[in-house]
Amino acid sequence: MSRQILFISDLHLDPSRPRIAELFLRFLQQEQGRAEALYILGDLYEAWIGDDAVPPDEPTLQALRAFSATTPTYFIHGNRDFLIGERFAELTGVQLLPEAVVVDLFGVPTLLMHGDTLCTDDVKYQQFRQMVRNPEWQRGFLALPIEQRLALAKQARSESGEHNQSLDEYLLDANQRTVEEEMRRHGVRRLIHGHTHRPAIHEFELDGQRHTRIVLGDWYEQGSVLRLRPEGPDLQTLAP
Ligand code: MN
Repeated sequence: MSRQILFISDLHLDPSRPRIAELFLRFLQQEQGRAEALYILGDLYEAWIGDDAVPPDEPTLQALRAFSATTPTYFIHGNRDFLIGERFAELTGVQLLPEAVVVDLFGVPTLLMHGDTLCTDDVKYQQFRQMVRNPEWQRGFLALPIEQRLALAKQARSESGEHNQSLDEYLLDANQRTVEEEMRRHGVRRLIHGHTHRPAIHEFELDGQRHTRIVLGDWYEQGSVLRLRPEGPDLQTLAP
């Protein structure tokens, strides 16, 4: 087995884009048994209104189950699929991680997160996030009939689309000061996240030391995967 750890995020899987689901299934098949771990850093699904709303034989759940049987697979919630829960974990064998976690990757402590908490210039979104990440709010939402949850999720997506259109581009990106605060707070020099759909490897100096922030790409037009090897990161696109 080659020494590599895989990272993906922001697939936004949705019935309206079956080619991306196919690309994801092919990716899992091809990488099966070839990596030490797979980390999915949020927004695997375009929307997730509760584990009970998805049939257990849904193809991506089954594919994840097969994949995780040989390769440890981890998930951090995104801003679209934050309601993924324990039943999903049981069905897929995927382990759910907290929203920010430091993992030792080939000897380098690395902070992993979805990335939406870094976008602190978008104050309205951060307020919305606080509401929907509240366990009490989530219990109330999950108690609603599926039809009603679907309607509310659709409404939230269209409002979020309008809100994002109203903001300048830079306000939707990670705030560099927040990035630095988080990296200091967690005592790391490497951060990997998604969410902004701006794939890049950023190097910068902080407290006299080189820091690295790796941003994963989305899967709208193509796939995007980070292969982390002991010698360094390799951010790749996957042709559909
Ligand atoms: Mn996101």
